[in-house]
Amino acid sequence: MTTGLFTHEDCTRHDMGDWHPESPARLAAIMDYLKASGLLSELEEHEAVHVSREALARAHPERYLAALDKLHPPEGLSWADPDTALNIYTLDAAARAAGGVVAAVKAVLSGKLANAFCAVRPPGHHAEYAQAMGFCFYNNVAVGVHEALASGLERIAVVDFDVHHGNGTVDIFKDEPRVLVCSSFQHPFYPHRAHDVDRPNIVNTPLPEGTRGLQFRQRVEADWLKKLDAHAPQMVFVSAGFDGHARDPLGGFELHEADYRWVTELIADVAARHAGGRIVSVLEGGYDLDALARSVDAHVQVLREADRL
Ligand SMILES: [Zn+2]
Repeated sequence: MTTGLFTHEDCTRHDMGDWHPESPARLAAIMDYLKASGLLSELEEHEAVHVSREALARAHPERYLAALDKLHPPEGLSWADPDTALNIYTLDAAARAAGGVVAAVKAVLSGKLANAFCAVRPPGHHAEYAQAMGFCFYNNVAVGVHEALASGLERIAVVDFDVHHGNGTVDIFKDEPRVLVCSSFQHPFYPHRAHDVDRPNIVNTPLPEGTRGLQFRQRVEADWLKKLDAHAPQMVFVSAGFDGHARDPLGGFELHEADYRWVTELIADVAARHAGGRIVSVLEGGYDLDALARSVDAHVQVLREADRL
């Protein structure tokens, strides 16, 4: 078995303007780097297919999906919030982003793949049950988690190491004890929502601006490891945002590739202990193109090493 890479060219057609950090160039930078490093040739590439309405409707209410459809512009841009716009290709890209995650879940659950990384955009972890925000429309990870629950899994973990809090994922699963959500994030910082949700299945790890690798590692290990082991997830999802990198223009952390390698090893160890190694990781943030590409390479390298165990 190997590591799958789910992506699609159409995910680069969603474009919110030349100034916008969540740019199509992010995926191109990742794919170019994975090719140049040689890692791409060790992965099994899959097309991110369109998600079904049924799969989307497990994570979001129909009224929200219909409202997004209505926002689809005939031309130009239509704004869902001050940071988040649709062009004529956005809903197609978003359907492939969520659909890629669903396909990855099916392939990993069926045993065809050991684990998978979804190089997709738009990202998803800020998308709440009924609110698009923070560059996100459909909560890709939440749609994938619901697919796994619908397949009969009873214990799932979501690990979110993006520099921003995964408010959307917390919002969707705060009353779903089958899903443990662990999120580390800069605080106080965008999105200023849901970071204080207090539930046994929500583990929030706020960290100050300027957080370096050692502090990140100590807090993540202290806050997450016992909870993850107690939950004993049958599958682990990763909201893999790399905007905590020291070079990132949006985030205020001082993390490096080695820290992303470390946290991925922690996740892979948990998945090996409880989940038969089943991991589906999904791209979230990361806005310095070089740092993003190198960090994704480090992250996927660990997934690839884990699938040989
Ligand atoms: Zn982010």
